[in-house]
Amino acid sequence: MNKPLVSSITCATYDESAVQAAVERAIAEIWPGGLAHLVKPGTTVAIKVNMLMAKSPDRAVTTHPSVAKAVCNLVKECGAQAVIIDSPGGPYTPILLRNAYEKCGFAKVAEESGAILNVDTSTVKVKRETKANLNGAELLRPAIEADVLINLPKLKTHGLTTMTCAVKNLFGLVPGIQKFEYHMRSPDLNDFCSMLVGIAELAEPDLTIVDAIIGMEGEGPSSGKPYEVGAILAGRDVHAVDLVAAAMLGLKPEQVPTIVVGQAVGLCPMSLSEVDVRGQVSPKHRGASLPTASIRTHLLDQLMPRRWADRLSRQLRPKPIFMRSTCSSCGVCVRSCPPQAIELKQGELPQVELDKCIRCFCCQELCPQEAIEVGRSWLGRLLFR
Ligand code: SF4
Ligand code: SF4
Repeated sequence: MNKPLVSSITCATYDESAVQAAVERAIAEIWPGGLAHLVKPGTTVAIKVNMLMAKSPDRAVTTHPSVAKAVCNLVKECGAQAVIIDSPGGPYTPILLRNAYEKCGFAKVAEESGAILNVDTSTVKVKRETKANLNGAELLRPAIEADVLINLPKLKTHGLTTMTCAVKNLFGLVPGIQKFEYHMRSPDLNDFCSMLVGIAELAEPDLTIVDAIIGMEGEGPSSGKPYEVGAILAGRDVHAVDLVAAAMLGLKPEQVPTIVVGQAVGLCPMSLSEVDVRGQVSPKHRGASLPTASIRTHLLDQLMPRRWADRLSRQLRPKPIFMRSTCSSCGVCVRSCPPQAIELKQGELPQVELDKCIRCFCCQELCPQEAIEVGRSWLGRLLFR
């Protein structure tokens, strides 16, 4: 059987001509004739960026506009229409979408490349059996019904899933606050990651191109620090792309639960030796620092009886901490909390009911002020330094 191919092209800058050249080289490794192999004249191409929230590109939270523009330019050269699309974490409305497109730099991309910014918030039920045991999901109609779907993730660390890249980016095809329902339905990390793998199977992107020029380390996906990876990755197989992306953050496959699930259901290659990697595959400097929340406590299971481990684990679990110095009392965290565990009284900091908290860290992900940190008890800090 042929190995899935992933190209990894060095690119250390967001200079538009350098990014354009890197994206073209990355695609040429897959199809020597370029994107025209996939994109035919007169067709519509949905470009699923990471637009987690309305942040400027230099914060490294969202797919950089230079990468989106390079892909839109190529789609135009093929005689097709590019449509930039995503559903950020909060409510999914045309007004909020326009604001996010503007702040993230995609409005300018559309203006300069002729791409359309999607504001159609309709959805379609995609029903199919998947290996990950998810037999259907309501996804963004314009992405599913496009002739071609190109996945354009940003490589970042993630408090819940350790890494977000090709597979996790497709969760953005679940509209707005419906994402919270998935968090509620799957509070267990393994179940949640099975659902993510299932969504990726249902979405079936034709191509993934990763913005791994400047990724994010630390408290990703929104409050971490920019982390220089220096590459554009491309591949047709989302799982193989994630395997390479993890290596470039200095992560082992077993540290990334979506990779573990993908391997368990036979979708993800077991190691890099099963991937045809064209280009660099190791971290540029050192491994990325990980989010506090991703340091797992299940190691306790190996040290003591399960009942004790469960009790201790509850004490040690990370929790959201609200920072008085930066919190603006906007209430976004209250509205973003799937189990409604956060209360905000006038003049006070938000408070979390920890028994209700499922540790999804949607609050941290969506706080516009980066006013939420992930903290542990003194014992947790001692054990999981
Ligand atoms: S979202 Fe952030 S800034 Fe807004 S109330 Fe919550 S912690 Fe404060
Ligand atoms: S408080 Fe934060 S981490 Fe806890 S359930 Fe709510 S959104 Fe998730």
